[in-house]
Amino acid sequence: MEVLTPRSLDEALRLKADVPAAVPIEGGTDVMVELNFDRRRPAALLDLTRVGELAEWGSDGDQLRLGAGVSYRRIIDELAGRLPGLAMASRTVGSPQIRTRGTVGGNLGSASPAGDAHPPLLAVDAQVELASVRGVRRVPARDFFTGPKRSVLAPDELIAAVLVPPLAGPQQFTKVGTRNAMVIAVCSFALALDPAARRAGTGIGSAGPTPIRAVAAEELLAAELPWDSPAPVPETVAVRFGELVAAAASPIDDVRGTAAYRRHALSVLARRALHWAWEEYRCG
Ligand SMILES: Cc1cc2nc3c(=O)[nH]c(=O)nc-3n(C[C@H](O)[C@H](O)[C@H](O)COP(=O)(O)OP(=O)(O)OC[C@H]3O[C@@H](n4cnc5c(N)ncnc54)[C@H](O)[C@@H]3O)c2cc1C
Repeated sequence: MEVLTPRSLDEALRLKADVPAAVPIEGGTDVMVELNFDRRRPAALLDLTRVGELAEWGSDGDQLRLGAGVSYRRIIDELAGRLPGLAMASRTVGSPQIRTRGTVGGNLGSASPAGDAHPPLLAVDAQVELASVRGVRRVPARDFFTGPKRSVLAPDELIAAVLVPPLAGPQQFTKVGTRNAMVIAVCSFALALDPAARRAGTGIGSAGPTPIRAVAAEELLAAELPWDSPAPVPETVAVRFGELVAAAASPIDDVRGTAAYRRHALSVLARRALHWAWEEYRCG
């Protein structure tokens, strides 16, 4: 197997254009499992760990630009104040070793419906920046996924970064697993409130062929939350919100849980996330 070791993003993009079948590797926490179990035997690996641009984060106008190679560990340590939902999700990923190696770019590259970074990215309406020698395009995270482990990424493209709007209010992420750590989510849910715009964003994980937004549930919160005089969330709104989140999912029965359990769990997670986020807003 050939291992290509670019030192800059330009060089990486040229190599990806020349050898589109080369498999990018960042933290390797998905790729190495596939190689070890012989599920994949690529002719070439494109090692991105020496590409400094991918490992940086910073401002892009009023947005936060998170390089595809920034690890979960660094999101937790350096960005919990600016990306609270993604930091909460990052804390639930794997183990300390996996969080140190694993990256959001790799999570997106694998495009698993169970990827923990995806629901918070959907909830804040993040954009994924894709680069190739042909140029750069930005795709809303909600349009990035096309099916289980499939995305709009073209063979000559790399994920360069994720663009996240400025923090607008409380965010939550919550996940059900068969134990507390080192598990793939049975289902997960993210919520982001934007009280000034009277908007709520959602993301559902592990309960459909792709990560999903619960659009009707978002519309309910926009219309029914007491945005002006922050009283507690009316219980009828919380219950309806849970129902609409569960209805937006299209889960299957598998080894981790049944579809019926996932729908029930999502309605509970959604109500809890709403109460937590709203209390944070109310109490400052
Ligand atoms: C023990 C264990 C526990 C885990 N627990 C969790 C968990 O709790 N939650 C969770 O979501 N995941 C979990 N994972 C899966 C994995 O850690 C994550 O998906 C992680 O985000 C992958 O990041 P990485 O940098 O290691 O990706 P890699 O393995 O390097 O790459 C993953 C995929 O993305 C592609 N890729 C990587 N970078 C780019 C790029 N810049 N452009 C285009 N394509 C790219 C690769 O070609 C590959 O297809 C676990 C894995 C293990 C082994």
